[in-house]
Amino acid sequence: MRFSFLGGAEEVGKSAFLLEDEKRLLLEYGIKLHQKTEYPLPFQGTIDYVILSHAHLDHSGFVPAVYEHCSPPCIATYPTQALSTMLVKDSMKVQRLKRQKVNFSGISFRKMLNNLVPLAYGQNFYLSPNMSLTFTDAGHIPGATISTIQVGKRKVVYTGDFKLGETWLHKGAECVQESDILLIESTYSKREHPDRKSLEERLYNEIRSVLERGGNALLPCFAVGRSQEVIQMLRYFDEDMKIFFDGMAKTASQIILDYPSYLKNAKYLADCLSSAEWVNSQGQRAKALSKPSVIISPAGMLEGGPSVKYALNLNEESEIILTGFQVPGTNGKLLLDEHKIRVNGILHDVRVPVEYLDFSAHASREDLFKFVEKASPEKIFCVHGETCQDFAGELRAKGYDAVAPKIGESFVV
Ligand SMILES: [Zn+2]
Ligand SMILES: [Zn+2]
Repeated sequence: MRFSFLGGAEEVGKSAFLLEDEKRLLLEYGIKLHQKTEYPLPFQGTIDYVILSHAHLDHSGFVPAVYEHCSPPCIATYPTQALSTMLVKDSMKVQRLKRQKVNFSGISFRKMLNNLVPLAYGQNFYLSPNMSLTFTDAGHIPGATISTIQVGKRKVVYTGDFKLGETWLHKGAECVQESDILLIESTYSKREHPDRKSLEERLYNEIRSVLERGGNALLPCFAVGRSQEVIQMLRYFDEDMKIFFDGMAKTASQIILDYPSYLKNAKYLADCLSSAEWVNSQGQRAKALSKPSVIISPAGMLEGGPSVKYALNLNEESEIILTGFQVPGTNGKLLLDEHKIRVNGILHDVRVPVEYLDFSAHASREDLFKFVEKASPEKIFCVHGETCQDFAGELRAKGYDAVAPKIGESFVV
């Protein structure tokens, strides 16, 4: 079989991997969100199946473009289908607002919707007489999967984005035992995550001191996953804290609650969400800023969404707390490094303190090595990260046949 790396190689963004054997499978077709959107390489010929691991745009954002050329089934869990539909639709809107061309038509987007095929965790899907696909829980965001593809006698495992540790939303992924070929994310191969429980306490204490001095604690969070996790975390510490909930996190929450079996505790999440004030108007935004409160709002990297407006209108006592990975080139990274954000091409200073707490939904360094050990593959491709080369080097030093492909490279295995 042949693997070609069309994107997501030595980078976080535009994941796109082509697996060719009896059938041609496209694992992900994502975009890279920057000031200017980047796309994966085009593929030649037709695709038999698109396999989508989860809804994040770096995996799903360019899937509609496949339907400019052919009409393959796109296999994903139900939550991934609904969440990626929401995120792709929104990214089309954001690109138009930025006066960027959307590189696929509305017709292709609808064609994608018509070709979505659901696959639940643990079920077997025959792609051809010799090839089958199974999804298992990746513990990353609701509906996220680790894909196991049986090709004849060989077992290919693609981790997507995964996390072994337990969070408020998920019990955590299970390692896959015994594989032949492994495609593994490498996002945090260089470092361990801080202890989750003490990080949660730190977040709560930080917020409490902001509220006590009369400010707003602005938490720009990813709409899917982090927003829902943070609200559960805060309610555990404090049932009375005033929390405003804004932007696409609201729609994402409604979708997530539609699929309770993909959550650790849907009832608790529903209770926490209903205890917050959902912001639906400019008047409510002004109200949120007028008194000490917590504001949970996308976008997580301040690329659009209400979090940008909030960031520019906070009082001096306020603070911005980033809780997720900030991709270089995004407003979130600019805010962390230079205390600025860019809106419509104009740089604005942000004068309040900015804190970053590493609440990652990705595998830690320890998780990555543990996963590799259990999977004990003959061949490893390290993808999705800025340290893929180092990770592959470390794995080779342990005796594995590991490589960090470059964009455009192909391997016959
Ligand atoms: Zn992801
Ligand atoms: Zn990703």
